[in-house]
Amino acid sequence: MDISSILQGGYQHPLSRSWQTRRTLTKSMFMYPIFITDDPEASVPIATLPGQRRWGVNKLEEFLGPLVQKGLQSVILFGVPFSCVKDMRGSPADDPHGPVILAIRKLRALFPSLFVAADVCLCEYTDHGHCGLLNLDGTINTAPSVERIAEVAVNYAKAGVHCVAPSDMMDGRVKAIKRGLIDAGFGNKVTLMSYSAKFASSLYGPFRDAAGSAPAFGDRKCYQLPPAAKGLARRAIQRDAAEGADIIMVKPSLPYLDIISDAAELAGDHPIACYQVSGEFAMIHAGAAAGVYDLRTMAFETAESMVRAGATLILSYFTPEFLEWL
Ligand SMILES: [Zn+2]
Repeated sequence: MDISSILQGGYQHPLSRSWQTRRTLTKSMFMYPIFITDDPEASVPIATLPGQRRWGVNKLEEFLGPLVQKGLQSVILFGVPFSCVKDMRGSPADDPHGPVILAIRKLRALFPSLFVAADVCLCEYTDHGHCGLLNLDGTINTAPSVERIAEVAVNYAKAGVHCVAPSDMMDGRVKAIKRGLIDAGFGNKVTLMSYSAKFASSLYGPFRDAAGSAPAFGDRKCYQLPPAAKGLARRAIQRDAAEGADIIMVKPSLPYLDIISDAAELAGDHPIACYQVSGEFAMIHAGAAAGVYDLRTMAFETAESMVRAGATLILSYFTPEFLEWL
């Protein structure tokens, strides 16, 4: 056998196997997505997302306290309002008494070391369920959408959030949010994590159950990327980096590892995030329940594949488990 044929000598020991990894998983790589609803006492299981709940603001201490003890370092908040009056411009998104702003204030007070991010979108708050404002014919009206989304982001910043994460996919919103943050005095205080390459995926179903955010009509294909659109994703990543995004995100993760890799190449000086979305999480649970693989082994394999592709931050519902496992 030729010398160049032999690879196994380099990974015959657990330690030498670990040296083959360019970057390893750490607890700080995990950001935990949290659903906040407007009943302050809520603790409601979400049937399609094993182990996940909708939480009320008054339950956050008992829910997150033990996780912070175990090393939880960041969360991202999603508002799930049920009792608000939704309208065409998503007014409840930045209601000072709405669940997201109350949760930001509460978490900052409860856990000073916790990095608090907030998803920024309008779909949970508009009566039509779309992520922006609409023209009369039902198409997206870009300019006022972007203006409104930036306004919401700035109001989350004023409530004390560390990071705003626009998931709406409206053209120009990263630049508008960055401008808004700078003009309001938060340019050096708040991180902008852009959902840059967010694909129109069939893996969002459990999230829509959890958040009640399915659109009233049509779908989101005019603003979320077509799954096969590698070129568009690369353009969106470069655009958002140029418009002032501090972190570039790819969503979902597992079917889009090549896009994570592209992001790491195109925006290699930025942290690269990926969102292991609700459907990916549910799929891993379903496969494990069906005996296809071991849950923990598969959770590691998928998360490690994301890091291998170039991710430095993983938004995952497995975060509490990884705090145990790592
Ligand atoms: Zn949305």
